[in-house]
Amino acid sequence: MESNMKKLGLGMMRLPRLEGGRDADIDKKQTADMIDLFLERGFKYIDTAFMYHDGESEKAVGELLAARHPRESFFLASKLPLWSMEKKEDMEEIFNTQLERTRAGYFDRYLIHGIDKRLVKKVDEFDAWGYMKSLKEKGLARSIGFSFHSTAEHLDEILTKHPEMEFVQLQLNYADWESEDVQSRLCYEVAEKHNKPVTVMEPVRGGALAAMPEGIRDIFLRAAPEKNIASWALRFVAELPMVNMVLSGMSNMQQLIENMDTFDNLKPLTEAEHRVISEVMEELSKIPTIPCTACKYCTPNCPQSINIPRVISLLNDYNTYRNLDANVRRYNMLTKSDKGKASSCIKCGKCESYCPQNIKIMSVLEEAAKAFEG
Ligand code: SF4
Ligand code: SF4
Repeated sequence: MESNMKKLGLGMMRLPRLEGGRDADIDKKQTADMIDLFLERGFKYIDTAFMYHDGESEKAVGELLAARHPRESFFLASKLPLWSMEKKEDMEEIFNTQLERTRAGYFDRYLIHGIDKRLVKKVDEFDAWGYMKSLKEKGLARSIGFSFHSTAEHLDEILTKHPEMEFVQLQLNYADWESEDVQSRLCYEVAEKHNKPVTVMEPVRGGALAAMPEGIRDIFLRAAPEKNIASWALRFVAELPMVNMVLSGMSNMQQLIENMDTFDNLKPLTEAEHRVISEVMEELSKIPTIPCTACKYCTPNCPQSINIPRVISLLNDYNTYRNLDANVRRYNMLTKSDKGKASSCIKCGKCESYCPQNIKIMSVLEEAAKAFEG
């Protein structure tokens, strides 16, 4: 990757949609305008994936980017979605579909999508590592890596076994920096130890660090009234030495312009600004949340197959950051069919008798249904 490439990448997973449209109904006019301006201002990195916008994101890349701009004017990343594959041969078929959809001829970066403890078994079984290497040898993937959602220890294990992987894509942001679950800092340190460049995903935590409850926004606004709230989160990750790209899934022209302005005037956070972020984190930690430990004792006996800990986690996230849209989107993905929705709870009470935290699960689910199902 060119060392002077601007560090902001346009994530094509939350593109503007037509009014009232489904996820697949991308507003092509606005998206084309966003892509044009992005390239015009000297940014290059575009990130898509097989399943974004139900497959329409890669098609939009083909129609709005590759068909309208010279290939060398953009740098394109896409990802291999192993979880939807049944056999090894599916990798080749999906990859060819991606090339066809995006009309790009090759990917500048190609990633195994979303490695976690479960998916890595399939990655090994299908030898996706070897497949990625073969794509690189053929020049169809100029650089290979993976996006990752697991522990730092697991990342260390994978990078030790697979030094051929050239970069990693990690969820890094200040809210997850010290979290036990995401382990942003620890994962970053593992990448540093293996000398792997890092692409950042979710720097604004799905929009949460741009939304923020009012009292907390005020802390940022008091410190720098002229700066938009998302810029604090973007600068936090952009200054990390191993980070060479920061992806943001932008949904409209205003977000795009604000983020490009941040990156065109990129300055490291000062010590005083780091203290502002610490103050924000402290205030966020005071917001009461439901004390679910995700032990999952409650789920095997639920006749409605409700993913109780995950629903609680979304509700906690919403109650902390007030980012309704992002959590409704996650909730809809979690509960694609009617089965498993919070509102499908029949109040049998079985779950509550297993919960070591004595959480009033039935009323929590009522709250979640009200928040996420409208
Ligand atoms: S009370 Fe609701 S959530 Fe709990 S086990 Fe019964 S159906 Fe499932
Ligand atoms: S049993 Fe209680 S603490 Fe454990 S996952 Fe279920 S709700 Fe959370």
